[in-house]
Amino acid sequence: MLDDGSLLKSKLNQLIAKYKNVSYLETDPICFPKRYKDPLDIEIVSLISCLFAYGNVKNIQNFLDPIFQSMGDSPSQFLVNHHFSNSNFPKTGKGYRFQSNEDVVIFFKTLQRILSENKNSSPIFESYFLDQNGQFDPNGSFQNFQKQWESEILLTAKTKVLTYGLQFLIGKWKSKSPKKRISLFLRWMVRRKYPDFGLYRKIKPNQIPYPMDVHIQKLIKVLGIQKQNNIQLQDAFALTEFFRKVNSVDPVLYDFYLTRVGIINRCKGRYEEMICKGCELNEVCLVVPRGIEPRLQG
Ligand code: SF4
Repeated sequence: MLDDGSLLKSKLNQLIAKYKNVSYLETDPICFPKRYKDPLDIEIVSLISCLFAYGNVKNIQNFLDPIFQSMGDSPSQFLVNHHFSNSNFPKTGKGYRFQSNEDVVIFFKTLQRILSENKNSSPIFESYFLDQNGQFDPNGSFQNFQKQWESEILLTAKTKVLTYGLQFLIGKWKSKSPKKRISLFLRWMVRRKYPDFGLYRKIKPNQIPYPMDVHIQKLIKVLGIQKQNNIQLQDAFALTEFFRKVNSVDPVLYDFYLTRVGIINRCKGRYEEMICKGCELNEVCLVVPRGIEPRLQG
């Protein structure tokens, strides 16, 4: 890093001041659960939005928006009361990228059964992350969540093996991948401050890993925080550890704001004068030629 941490912190605070505005929520899949007030609707819509949050933002929105529109004011009530046998929900009928339409229907049927078994009361999925002692464990919680989802889907599908699409949707529990979609869901559910919902109270905001999407992966390199190319879940927890030095209680606070540098400011992960000169991070970014930034700021 280029500074002792205080400069980075001040730049992060500038980022927060710039992007802490509800208009920027529309640039993120969190815009979907933000439409609802009931905790159960927020939890259900958050899970759906995060699991399908892969690929191009426009494609994600084009797939999810009609689904949520057709579920009305309360997606949880819609699911509980819905009769899949004589419906064409979801209406798109095409599935989404790796998920066939049948995969999508099985996923929603599984959600419906889980909702009914939990008497429609939130939180439902926090317990999926906890061990036998009710604790969140960085070494096993993601696996617990994925294993439980795997068995729930197999129960619905009445098969012994998941289709490729459904396996992709929940991820492989044995994989060392950063599990960014599940991490994003955890961030929304665990962090208690803007822009997140804080519905899960047994997991602390400083325990959860960073969702390592492409934007965060670029930024941690140019900021000199992590160098490796093959990012794993342990690196996502290590990034939380790094930001604990900046904010011990709420280290994942910076995720939403850092990702705006990629999504809105179009950071390329390399020096590009037109982009970098307006970036709040240019004084702490390793790819900005030193001695240039004062001129750029003038
Ligand atoms: S200065 Fe440029 S490369 Fe560095 S974080 Fe900002 S936009 Fe990205």
